[in-house]
Amino acid sequence: MPANKRKAFLLAILALLFIAVLFSPPDKVYPELNPAPWENMPISVYIDDKNIPPHYSPSYRVQVEKALEYWSSGGSGKLGYIPEFEIVEEDNADILIMWVENLQKDAGVPEGVAGFARPYEVNGRYERVEIVLEVGNYQGYSWRQYGDANMREIAKHEIGHALGLGHSTDRNDIMFPTYDQKDDINPLLVQKTLPLIIAGILLGLALVFYHGGGWLHSRKKRERLEEDIFGEKDK
Ligand SMILES: [Zn+2]
Repeated sequence: MPANKRKAFLLAILALLFIAVLFSPPDKVYPELNPAPWENMPISVYIDDKNIPPHYSPSYRVQVEKALEYWSSGGSGKLGYIPEFEIVEEDNADILIMWVENLQKDAGVPEGVAGFARPYEVNGRYERVEIVLEVGNYQGYSWRQYGDANMREIAKHEIGHALGLGHSTDRNDIMFPTYDQKDDINPLLVQKTLPLIIAGILLGLALVFYHGGGWLHSRKKRERLEEDIFGEKDK
């Protein structure tokens, strides 16, 4: 490829890189999946402590109630509204909370995920959110049941999702993904990382192209030099 064409190609890639970086949103914005997911207050919550796995502890329900209180009394301060909850006994509630023995085994989620929240969104509002919590996980080869404090933290985190919050990059924030890695429910994360992935691919292409082209170029130069010196082409 002629040098001026190569230069134009490189310039085009640099321009694309610039655009990709320009359109990637700032990293430090606190992720909010939905700033106002619930239309009416209070939000009804059904805690299913009837269909329970073998290692369910009766104290878990109390931990979920405490996690709800955490958010209704201000939570991490990152919500733009104060939620009110009403615990109901019908399973057609706004938020449904249930337990399974092990998420990896019972719901096919990746290893290390302790809970997940699955929001059903209609016209920008949450119609319903299902929260599934596991009661324990494997640590090495042995299965360990979660203690109450652990269950409370997992519940707080998942309820945070049900209230419209995404993951935090702050390790001390309850929305930091320590207990679950259910990143695939977070559309913001994809938006944020996609331009970076594209930029990475373009940069890789540019490097390969540049070095590849440079190498070809220098080989031709060497061949010409050899021709001059030895009077004939090497091959
Ligand atoms: Zn999460």
